[in-house]
Amino acid sequence: MEVGGMCEHKVSLFENVIKQMEVARPYLPNVEDDLFEVLKYPKETLIMHLSVRMDDGKVKVFSAYRSHHNNALGPYKGGVRYHPQVTLDDVMALSVLMTWKCAVVGLPYGGGKGGIACNPKEMSQGELERLSRAYALAVSRFVGVDYDIPAPDVNTNPQIMAWFLDTYEKVKGWSEPGVYTGKPMVLGGSEGRKDATSRGGAYVTREAMKVFGIKEGATCAIQGFGNVGSFAHKLYKELLGLKVIAVSDIGGGVYNPNGFDHDKLLKVLNETGTVANYPDGDKISNEELLELNVDILVPAAIENVITEENAPRIKAKLISELANGPVTPEADKILFDKGVICLPDILTNAGGVTVSYFEWIQNRTGHYWPIQKIYEELDRMMTNAFLAVYEVHRKYNIDMRTAAYVLAIGKVAEATKVRGIWP
Ligand code: NAD
Repeated sequence: MEVGGMCEHKVSLFENVIKQMEVARPYLPNVEDDLFEVLKYPKETLIMHLSVRMDDGKVKVFSAYRSHHNNALGPYKGGVRYHPQVTLDDVMALSVLMTWKCAVVGLPYGGGKGGIACNPKEMSQGELERLSRAYALAVSRFVGVDYDIPAPDVNTNPQIMAWFLDTYEKVKGWSEPGVYTGKPMVLGGSEGRKDATSRGGAYVTREAMKVFGIKEGATCAIQGFGNVGSFAHKLYKELLGLKVIAVSDIGGGVYNPNGFDHDKLLKVLNETGTVANYPDGDKISNEELLELNVDILVPAAIENVITEENAPRIKAKLISELANGPVTPEADKILFDKGVICLPDILTNAGGVTVSYFEWIQNRTGHYWPIQKIYEELDRMMTNAFLAVYEVHRKYNIDMRTAAYVLAIGKVAEATKVRGIWP
């Protein structure tokens, strides 16, 4: 299916998500074919063309989207992405993934996603603010604290959430901080949001290490050193006792069997633009990093980095997917046949949306939690989610990704069915 002016050269993310759902289909005998068909498609999508006055006085038109996939378990939830190549196809696919992600962790949410085709790196703060407010105004009838709760995603941040919230509240005329999550602390943001994705991933990986027999001191390589990858470097060492022997970013990678000093890596990144310039170690490419002989591999950068081409050469025992979609469906099969355990994105990187859920609870109750409570609740929810997926994996002898989909689709199908199809 081709949607919304999708560029021809781009792989359809939506088609990949449907493919993944089809892999889980045989393990969902209680879901009727017509119900399964219902679950594939977003319920509604909004396509917008936003007119924004640029600094040079000219008006520019930006394509923007919001997709609502399924709300059987609760309001739609999912980030807003700013990226030059974002399409309706991407946003639809990502909204489907959000439904499964929320269901895997047991959050009372459905799946949504938004995006604006723009390049924020080429825009001034003023232009970004006007674009963000134009988006928030256009979606103001399409979001709500009990309807759809957006959050940051690629290239969006707490400042943008502040503009979104301010626009929404001015349109409505009342305060409703829970409609957007990932806000600055002063507007009701939560403690623990910054490292939530990596921390949640660490809890899941800790449980996986127990059942798959990987001990403290095991080796690890991390691809990507942005928000998620840099906190993963810190927390996979601190919480799991792993020895991280390789890291990378878009500028390349570095290998050192004795590991790295975290603060020094950040300093090198800040001063030179890439961790590849870390002085103590050997330079390696991103491709080499993925194929290193390590116990645990952590893709924390971009999608589709492990494909049918390099999957046969992957040596890690466990892949902890912090990035979204780093392993293609074709590679999944090769890895499973080789006995490589892949902890799927919809489970492993769900810590971010889980702490967003905590933020939403805090906004709604007006009672703010200390950091320790955030950590404890996140640990409890991520551990339970891992154990639930692991049980399905054992029951059917299927890979962990398919198990996560079986669990999530099963829950959403049950909720959709018991509600009934109406009107
Ligand atoms: P970011 O922009 O902060 O960092 C991205 C990192 O990837 C950077 O170090 C960048 O140099 C590197 N990178 C970019 N292109 C690369 C390439 N071609 N090869 C190697 N490295 C490359 O983004 P982030 O927030 O850290 O997100 C990383 C991944 O995690 C994404 O897939 C994102 O969707 C996913 N994710 C993020 C969150 C979150 O809370 N930030 C939550 C869930 C999932």
